[in-house]
Amino acid sequence: MVRDGYPVLLKEDFVKEPIESEGTVVELLDDNKKFVARAYLAKQNKGDGWILTLNENEKIDQSFFEHLFKQAAAERVSLKENEQTTAYRFFNGEGDGLGGLTIDMYADYYVFSWYSIGIYKHQQTILKAFLSAVPNVKGVYEKIRYQSKTKPETDHIYGEEAPEPLLIKENGITYATYLNDGLMTGIFLDQRNVRNSILENYSMDKTVLNTFSYTGAFSVAAAIGGASHTTSVDLANRSLEKTKEQFEVNNLDPELQTIRVMDVFDYFRYAIRKQLSFDTVIVDPPSFARSKKRTFSVAKDYTALLEDIIDITNEDGVIIASTNAANISTERFEQFIENAFDNKGMSYQILEKHTLSEDFKINPHYPQSDYLKVYVIRKG
Ligand code: SAH
Repeated sequence: MVRDGYPVLLKEDFVKEPIESEGTVVELLDDNKKFVARAYLAKQNKGDGWILTLNENEKIDQSFFEHLFKQAAAERVSLKENEQTTAYRFFNGEGDGLGGLTIDMYADYYVFSWYSIGIYKHQQTILKAFLSAVPNVKGVYEKIRYQSKTKPETDHIYGEEAPEPLLIKENGITYATYLNDGLMTGIFLDQRNVRNSILENYSMDKTVLNTFSYTGAFSVAAAIGGASHTTSVDLANRSLEKTKEQFEVNNLDPELQTIRVMDVFDYFRYAIRKQLSFDTVIVDPPSFARSKKRTFSVAKDYTALLEDIIDITNEDGVIIASTNAANISTERFEQFIENAFDNKGMSYQILEKHTLSEDFKINPHYPQSDYLKVYVIRKG
């Protein structure tokens, strides 16, 4: 599997429990003691490490990482040169040749996300390599996405600090981001193509409901796309002020839109009572969420969620159904959609399917990391 390109080390790959520790670069040998690959050890989900190279002569040093970053930059030249979009994924882990690390670009500030202790052991070398491979880096932040007792989950580690908010652009729309406020920044860059489709295809003169709206990025795209009205619903208190800000940085008056801090399941009941229905409904829940009243998981509850959505979508209206749950296959997601419409006795038509945008590069030998599924469905 490794010789064919599979990038993860698994328990079965070891003859005995490794004595080396997190971050150690090891050599993999076949039964004839012939070189197969170099890898580094790291516990991350079900994996025990990531393959680095199949080339015996390639040393794992600063220039190894520099080469990966130069290659990543070369593959994103068209995004880099696009002045209408100033935020995107610069480096996507194993898709770009190094599992355990992603790097996002926000208007020349970069956000590193480290997914294991093992990769973090190489932090200094990797940062040096990055700075020598990539020009015009204004500043660097890091997110610690593994359990750590010693490191804060977010930190500024190089160069200037970004303004707060840092305004980025995507397809000409402005978004307010915060690079040093928890693990999230205010926008999910993997939904770029979906925001663009909402902007261009599903907003003009439409009433748009955005459920699980977070900072309202989909709502802003809809408003700029000509929506007659947008409604954003999210449980988190912070979503109100963040959503207002997203409208304001685009010179849109948030008072003309509806923003509700509310459990979406309560909102569905409220909408039915008030006989509210919408032309376009966006639904992008977290894979798993626990509120005071209930737990929600995509695996168990997505069909029922869609049924609630169908009830408040106008005939010939459009539902934009999204999930980032890696454990849900495309087939299973399609089944949720089919079951929901069947249970409601309604017909439907799938208009568009989206997966990750091209900057979220996927390793073809590791399709598990292609987690995003977004379907645009017409009711009726
Ligand atoms: N669609 C958003 C991202 C959603 S993140 C975007 O692309 O920008 C998930 C959001 O769901 C979080 O903001 C969280 O506060 C919210 N959430 C979780 N459970 C909820 C519930 N029961 N009702 C409303 N919002 C909920």
